[in-house]
Amino acid sequence: MDTYESLLAAITPKGGETREVRDPATDEVIGTAPVQTIDDLNAAIDKAEEAQVAWAALSDEERVDYLNKVADAIEAHAEPLAELLSREQGKPLNGPNARFEVGGCVAWTRVPANTPLPVDVVIDDGENYAEMHYRPLGVVAAISPWNWPMMISIWQIVPALRMGNTVVMKPAETTTLSVLALIAVMNTVLPEGVLQVVAGPGRTVGDAMTRHPKVAKIMFTGSTPVGKRIIEASAGNVTRLTLELGGNDAGIVLDDVDPKEIAEGLFWGAFINTGQTCAALKRLYVPASIYDEVVDALAEFAKQMPMGVGLDENNVLGPLQNPDQFKEVDRLVESAKASGARVVMGGDPDYDAPGNFYPTTLVADIDPHNDLVVEEQFGPALPIIKYTDLEEVIKLANELEVGLGASVWSKDREKARQIAARIQAGTVWINAHGMVNPFIPFGGAKQSGYGQEFGVEGLKAVAQPQVING
Ligand code: NAD
Repeated sequence: MDTYESLLAAITPKGGETREVRDPATDEVIGTAPVQTIDDLNAAIDKAEEAQVAWAALSDEERVDYLNKVADAIEAHAEPLAELLSREQGKPLNGPNARFEVGGCVAWTRVPANTPLPVDVVIDDGENYAEMHYRPLGVVAAISPWNWPMMISIWQIVPALRMGNTVVMKPAETTTLSVLALIAVMNTVLPEGVLQVVAGPGRTVGDAMTRHPKVAKIMFTGSTPVGKRIIEASAGNVTRLTLELGGNDAGIVLDDVDPKEIAEGLFWGAFINTGQTCAALKRLYVPASIYDEVVDALAEFAKQMPMGVGLDENNVLGPLQNPDQFKEVDRLVESAKASGARVVMGGDPDYDAPGNFYPTTLVADIDPHNDLVVEEQFGPALPIIKYTDLEEVIKLANELEVGLGASVWSKDREKARQIAARIQAGTVWINAHGMVNPFIPFGGAKQSGYGQEFGVEGLKAVAQPQVING
């Protein structure tokens, strides 16, 4: 599996139902993905249940050792993995894209593998003694989306394995090969049955996972509507859930910034992965006093960022991953145009060209309640809303049902922190947006989900807390 071709060959199905996989940049067929069934899922869960006994019986040091070797294996296969990811997901090799994502997989393996989790003595006062332990849960089901398919799968898998669980993973239908390849590489190290993948449709295999009595915990990252279905489906077994759902992050610029200084940070906050990022900046609020300067600085920077086929080393922006997402971005930009908002750049896709390319789009002078502002666009189209009253903006930032991330941009860190404290979001960044870090807990507020990933909190979330009292 050292080359792209050998990696692809290793994951190409030998039988069963399959479907063609196309490069979203060129529409070319790049491979064949399996379409598995509920029977395949049931067999995988039985096997995971069996394998879990021996995996949980290992010492923490032994599991850490395995996971460090997994990180080495991903690192050794980084280039073919990045190429496959680029071809299937569409994201370019360079910029904060395919190579960056594979690098993230290595980091998000090493950090949770090596984060200390000592036994916590909660009371020891001479009369009472109690310790808090974190035991394995059993079989963890993981369901990942198509935007960061490898990295988000790793976020779900590695903490679960570290804590002595086994994992059955279901990738998104449109990014199956990327996850199959990643797991094939990980399984060159891991014992049989500890990590399995079942590639099937969400409405059949995904749904069955969330109802399965042998699944102790579901790690789900995806849309809020599917998250709600999973809550209902899991109720019968009181299955534990971590839900990382949709977002519509606000960025609030204060009037003391230098527009040119913040342009790059704003751009990548919004357009990382061509806008297909859960915690991307999706609506930008800028004070009237510096509005034109911020819009101009952002447009100036954006114009220099090339979009195109992922394997071209020059590109840093790619196509939308699938035609449905293209239509969604197009619908929202058309709604903005129809309302009289000003398209500063983009907004004019070539519908006949190959690939799902939607140009980098900035929309100014837009009503704060336009669809492009209040719905999650999940693509390269940023609405920029002018404001004069900061209190009104805080209200607008908080009025949606979702609350994943947010950001405040200012030279006055203290003032920015005071505003941050009033924003209803799982993370508020200051002078940055979406900068996730494996040491720092991450999770949503409101309908962006519940439960946390990363850091010690992320390890605890895939374990059964147990108090030993006495
Ligand atoms: P999606 O909800 O359509 O699909 C996610 C996964 O769920 C896929 O694997 C899909 O097959 C599966 N699925 C679909 N129906 C299911 C069902 N009934 N039961 C079980 N599984 C089912 O989401 P998507 O379109 O792949 O991803 C985009 C969305 O994900 C956006 O809303 C984005 O904000 C969100 N997201 C959130 C985070 C986060 O960390 N909060 C990260 C990435 C993406």
